[in-house]
Amino acid sequence: MDLDETDVDILRILQENGRLSFRQMAERVKVSVPTVSSKISNMENMGIIRGYLADLDSERMGELSVVLTVKAKPSDLKTVAERFRANEHVRKLFLLSNSKLHMICTFSGSHLINDFVAGLGEVPEIIEYDISNIIQVVKENQRALVEPDISVILPCAFCKKEIRDGPIKLKADDRDYYLCCTTCLKSFQEKIEKLKAKA
Ligand SMILES: [Zn+2]
Repeated sequence: MDLDETDVDILRILQENGRLSFRQMAERVKVSVPTVSSKISNMENMGIIRGYLADLDSERMGELSVVLTVKAKPSDLKTVAERFRANEHVRKLFLLSNSKLHMICTFSGSHLINDFVAGLGEVPEIIEYDISNIIQVVKENQRALVEPDISVILPCAFCKKEIRDGPIKLKADDRDYYLCCTTCLKSFQEKIEKLKAKA
């Protein structure tokens, strides 16, 4: 599904400043306030806008960060990722194509880094790892790059698979759901009916 120019403009503004009012955004994009409001809630529903957060300065807060790359057998990669996922020090975790995991981890003191590194030895699937301290943050932007012609990849609300052809839109309980085919649409409607009956 494609976003239009107004969607793209709104995303750009939000990426710069998430605290503008709908009215301020409407003035800048030159559309009405209800248009801004409906476009934003639509993009929230589609999962493009994940949330609105304060951008905190980790260095200013005296924290230390490391970049950790871990190598494991391709078949173990997801298991290793799962082991690290819940660790609060792991702030970013990426699965790479070369059978490696890449992590950015943050700590309030160097003794905690030592404990963390000691813990790596206890993860049986790790073949090797490489860890370096971040000594300066030169650039740190959000990964999403808002460019014209954004095509949104939506998961089907029922089967969760990626929707390849034009999605079927269903309005229910004041929000939009996207389904991949009429079979999923039917099953999803039944599911909603059942939930409603229970409630
Ligand atoms: Zn589906």
